[in-house]
Amino acid sequence: MRAVGRVILLFAIVLSAAVLSGCKTSSLISESQEIEIGRQASLDIERKYHVVNDPALNQRINHIGQTIAARSARANIAYTFKILDLKDVNAVSLPGGWVYLYKGLINECKDDDDMLAGVIAHEIGHVAARHHAAIMGRETLYGIGIQVLVKGNLQQWVAVWANLDLLRWSRSDENEADRLAINYTYGSPWKPDGLIRFLKILQTKSKGDGGIFGPMLRTHPLTKERIERAEKYLQELERTGGKTSG
Ligand SMILES: [Zn+2]
Repeated sequence: MRAVGRVILLFAIVLSAAVLSGCKTSSLISESQEIEIGRQASLDIERKYHVVNDPALNQRINHIGQTIAARSARANIAYTFKILDLKDVNAVSLPGGWVYLYKGLINECKDDDDMLAGVIAHEIGHVAARHHAAIMGRETLYGIGIQVLVKGNLQQWVAVWANLDLLRWSRSDENEADRLAINYTYGSPWKPDGLIRFLKILQTKSKGDGGIFGPMLRTHPLTKERIERAEKYLQELERTGGKTSG
C-alpha cells in the first residue's frame, strides 16, 4: 500500500471512530485554515473528476445555493457550488464553503427546485455549523500519535476531504444539518418540505447497497427517526411561524 493510501486508511478509521463516539469537540482549526484546506481539496477533486459545464444548470444551482447561503448564520464566507459528472446520487461539502452535487442527484430532482434547495441547504448546514472543523478538532479522540500527524500538517486533511467516499457524518451532525436546512428554506423562495420529500425517496432506496443512492446513504446516514425529527421540526416551525425551541 502506498503511503498516501495508508494515511487515508488511517483517517477513515479515525473519522468513523470520531463519528461513533460523538464526544465533545473543541476546534483547533481556524476559519482561514478551514478555507485553505477546503480550497486545496476542491482543486484535487476537480483534477480527479469532471465538472459539468452546463451554464443553465450551473446558474440554477448557484442561484439556489447563494440565496440559501445568504440566509445562513455563516454568510460571511464565500460559497462555491459545482456539479460533478458522476451518475450516483450524492452531495458533498468541504470545509470552508465548497459544495459539490453529483449529476445523479440533479437528475433525481428533475425540475423540483424545492427538493434540490433542501439538499443544498443541508450541505450549507454542515458548512455553517462548522462540522468539518469539529471533526478536525477532535483532539482528545485522536490521541497523541494522530495529533502529531494532524497538527501543522494541513495536507493530510486535504487528502482526507478530497476523498469523496470517506466521510460518514454522525447522526447528530445529520440532525443538525437537517434542522438548519429547514430553517434556511423556511421563508425562502423554496418550500422547506423539499428536504423531507428527498429523504423519503432516499429511504425507499435504502435496501441492499442502495444502487446509485448508495454514496448518499453511506455519507449521510439515514434513519426513520431522522425523517421523523425533520418532520416534527418543520411542523413546529409552521405552528410557531418560524420560532422554535431549538
Ligand atoms: Zn449530511
